[in-house]
Amino acid sequence: MRFAVQSRNDPQSNELMERAINYLTHFGLELDEEKPEIVLSIGGDGTLLQAFHRYTHMLSEVAFVGIHTGHLGFYADWKPAEIEKLVISIAKNEFDVIEYPLLEMTINYQDNTDCFTYLALNESTVKSPEVTLVMDIELNGKLFERFRGDGLCVSTPSGSTAYNKALGGAIIHPSLETIQLTEMASINNRVFRTVGSSLVLPAHHNCVLKPVKVDDFMVTIDHIQLLHKNVKTIQYRVAKDKVRFARFRAFPFWQRVHDSFIDSDLRD
Ligand code: NAP
Repeated sequence: MRFAVQSRNDPQSNELMERAINYLTHFGLELDEEKPEIVLSIGGDGTLLQAFHRYTHMLSEVAFVGIHTGHLGFYADWKPAEIEKLVISIAKNEFDVIEYPLLEMTINYQDNTDCFTYLALNESTVKSPEVTLVMDIELNGKLFERFRGDGLCVSTPSGSTAYNKALGGAIIHPSLETIQLTEMASINNRVFRTVGSSLVLPAHHNCVLKPVKVDDFMVTIDHIQLLHKNVKTIQYRVAKDKVRFARFRAFPFWQRVHDSFIDSDLRD
């Protein structure tokens, strides 16, 4: 089996990366950064986001596993002390693969030049660089509302515990093929009105954002932020592609939510 390792690049993560490479090659696995079948991410959830974006062109061929060298993560749920156990399971091919939904974003520009499509593991956000964001939100081709506020966040189920949660969005189980649209500080008064709640859309629905006046936006895809100029539309939907995680033991999603947010004594 071919493997690759992504490190957060701090001393502890780098040391663990060296050990993982030594163990895995000792067991006859081949280090292949170009075409890995399994990718070990060593660091935090942010490190796994980087690993994901490094291999988005081959998601159907690769499975990810995350080891945390800081606190317990949603994607990085193995402890450093478990590295040998993990390596043996990988070498013996003793793991299941589970799939989580992704977010697809497509941006079209005013001059009808190329449109660009991106995949997000956590979320995409849209903000106006200097002024209040004003966007018409269309759901399935029909105007739903005109949004005014700080910004909008569209998250995947597994990303619902990240930025979306900080904005008051719901935590969604990753077995549900959905995306969630959450407001950032909408302006609501007698003149301007938004629904105020997060919207959870199923896989056969889509959401299109249309600029009202300003058409330059700061758009994020996970940890990547880009300024897009002359934007005509930004479309979101559940992606056809999925991300694959190698699962070696049961660690249910709600248990991870509990251990991360409720009972801090269980954090590592
Ligand atoms: P960062 O600003 O260095 O870290 C953001 C934090 O979010 C880290 O503690 C990270 O965990 C955690 N995180 C990432 N994915 C998560 C998930 N699915 N569930 C729960 N926590 C998660 O940025 P980064 O490490 O490059 O990560 C980018 C992410 O930061 C974005 O995708 C966005 O979700 C998040 N973010 C959150 C806020 C907010 O909560 N107000 C604001 C901006 C961005 P680790 O420490 O394990 O890496």
